[in-house]
Amino acid sequence: MSAFKSYDVVIIGSGPAGSLCGIECRKKGLSVLCIEKDEFPRFHIGESLTGNAGQIIRDLGLAEEMDAAGFPDKPGVNVIGSLSKNEFFIPILAPTWQVRRSDFDNMLKRKALEHGVEYQQGLVKDVIKHEGKVVGAIYKADDMEHQVRSKVLVDASGQNTFLSRKGVAGKREIEFFSQQIASFAHYKGVERDLPPFSTNTTILYSKQYHWSWIIPISPDTDSLGIVIPKDLYYKECKNPDDAIEWGMENISPEIRRRFQNAERLGDSQSMADFSYRIEPFVGDGWLCIGDAHRFLDPIFSYGVSFAMKEGIRAADAIKQAIDGNEWKTPFYAYRDWSNGGQQIAADLIRYFWIYPIFFGYQMQNPDLRDEVIRLLGGCCFDCEGWKAPTIFRNAIEEYDRKQMVG
Ligand code: FAD
Repeated sequence: MSAFKSYDVVIIGSGPAGSLCGIECRKKGLSVLCIEKDEFPRFHIGESLTGNAGQIIRDLGLAEEMDAAGFPDKPGVNVIGSLSKNEFFIPILAPTWQVRRSDFDNMLKRKALEHGVEYQQGLVKDVIKHEGKVVGAIYKADDMEHQVRSKVLVDASGQNTFLSRKGVAGKREIEFFSQQIASFAHYKGVERDLPPFSTNTTILYSKQYHWSWIIPISPDTDSLGIVIPKDLYYKECKNPDDAIEWGMENISPEIRRRFQNAERLGDSQSMADFSYRIEPFVGDGWLCIGDAHRFLDPIFSYGVSFAMKEGIRAADAIKQAIDGNEWKTPFYAYRDWSNGGQQIAADLIRYFWIYPIFFGYQMQNPDLRDEVIRLLGGCCFDCEGWKAPTIFRNAIEEYDRKQMVG
């Protein structure tokens, strides 16, 4: 084993959570090493960004670069119910984009490097502990094992949930939305709506957990995703191609219409078991951000926005913990803030799946419309005192009570 270096913060993973956390830690004067296993640019799913994510990107000074990269503006989300009935439109209040994640994540990584985040391509394999506290990591690079010491080790490893797998963070527990499999691919030649709505996200659903996304990720490429329950996937489909075909036939005729002249680019892929939560996700010398501790349901495109927000918020907690030489107060505050926002998002998503038609009505309700649009824009962490979260919470508690009784 070679000699080791030491940093204030070592981050596992260079997705949106890791890059934003690194940038914010550097702004606070901390030394940061980010270790990423994959060579960038690399494929990633998660291509439609909320208005909140758009604001973070503009705050980073990346708006011009986003436009130059050809990422389409996202005017809003069109939600189309079963048999193309119950359609409603969710406008985006703050300008934002649809992205090809390989290029977007690479852009964030470059920004992190500009801010002085050091970068190491390598696979983090284990943690180093001293008297119960996490004090570093062991990673493999260039066929050798290396040690690095940290005051705080940040798990931003996404769905790999590294610290959970190592038994440092809690076990992965399935969320309500976990019984789904997503199959997806990129296409050229997809028929789009007319401008200015040609670059909307389109969500089509037929019934609970049977849905599809269409996201224009460049001037000539669209992402198609088909999400269906696991048991249906295993019964009807042998592979992601079958699932996409099943979705085109059964979710909405609108998908077939839009893709009739489209050509697929590359292979299709499937993903299962993407919805979970991990508790605890903070501890002595470590914390988790983004998908490394929780992912809900992709239906409202919260993932990148929450990952970036958590990266930024965690940097505050890290700075306080290092300066004050005490982790519990700042890390528990980060944990409670995260759980609060994620719970509001989970309620919104469950309400949509339980009462999709009422959800559409609430979008028209003048008393709630503004709040719902802002919650869908990613404001779930900044909505203290709002009415809508309480209404959705009460409705879900009532639903759960009835399920238990019935
Ligand atoms: P990631 O982006 O996954 O980054 C983690 C990084 O860690 C990766 O680069 C990985 O290579 C690296 N890594 C992992 N393990 C190690 C290790 N041991 N050592 C070193 N490096 C490691 N979100 C949206 O905002 N919009 C969408 O439209 C959307 N659609 C989605 C559709 C589906 C089907 C799914 C499942 C998710 C979707 N998401 C969407 C969610 C989004 O993809 C994630 O929430 C987001 O990428 C989380 O960012 P992150 O930085 O936490 O993790």
